[in-house]
Amino acid sequence: MSDAAAHARAEVVAAAQRLGMLGLNWGTAGNVGLRVSGGLLVTPSGVPAEELEPDLVVALRPDGTAPPGQPVPTSEWRLHSAVLAARPDIAAIVHTHSIEATAFACLRQPLPAVHYVVARAGVSEIPCARYATYGTQELADNVVDALDRGGACLIANHGVLTVGRSLDAAVALAADVEWLAAVYRRTLTVGEPVILPPDEIDRVAEQFTSYGQPGCGAGR
Ligand SMILES: [Zn+2]
Repeated sequence: MSDAAAHARAEVVAAAQRLGMLGLNWGTAGNVGLRVSGGLLVTPSGVPAEELEPDLVVALRPDGTAPPGQPVPTSEWRLHSAVLAARPDIAAIVHTHSIEATAFACLRQPLPAVHYVVARAGVSEIPCARYATYGTQELADNVVDALDRGGACLIANHGVLTVGRSLDAAVALAADVEWLAAVYRRTLTVGEPVILPPDEIDRVAEQFTSYGQPGCGAGR
């Protein structure tokens, strides 16, 4: 195995475990995908993040088929394969069942611009993909449709998906979406939140491109 391939596998393990540490995934819920030379890497099916090791990460061809001799890939491998095919601008995918965002997914409601941080996803509202049974091509197609050119979507009665140019970016966005959902829910318990207009989100998105320390990718 090349150094690059080993590094990519280690990145997938680190991202899956970071989702657990952030409280965004637990047990065997959720999965991670990363574009690599010759295809993609995905987490295996049914392995808790804390038990994940680089050798258990599954290498798939671009069409999602797996060369033999590997662990069984996540049941959502079609999702990862379809999103990477539809979005040549991104390399990493994070799928979680994080509780606050999933609650709105179960209401089949988008997350509006209740806070400017929604601009991290490059959209003024985080959409909700239509429901389909988990692991199906129909679900993968629904997510591709809902995600469009954005960075995140909810998945009806299921969870959340975020994308990024790196796994660090996709994990950070998954945390942002969860935080946004938590804030939105709290506002709904005490009143009617004020939703920011799309032109303000455009301004914020522009400012994010120069936020943070030069070269740190803080704008994501
Ligand atoms: Zn799921």
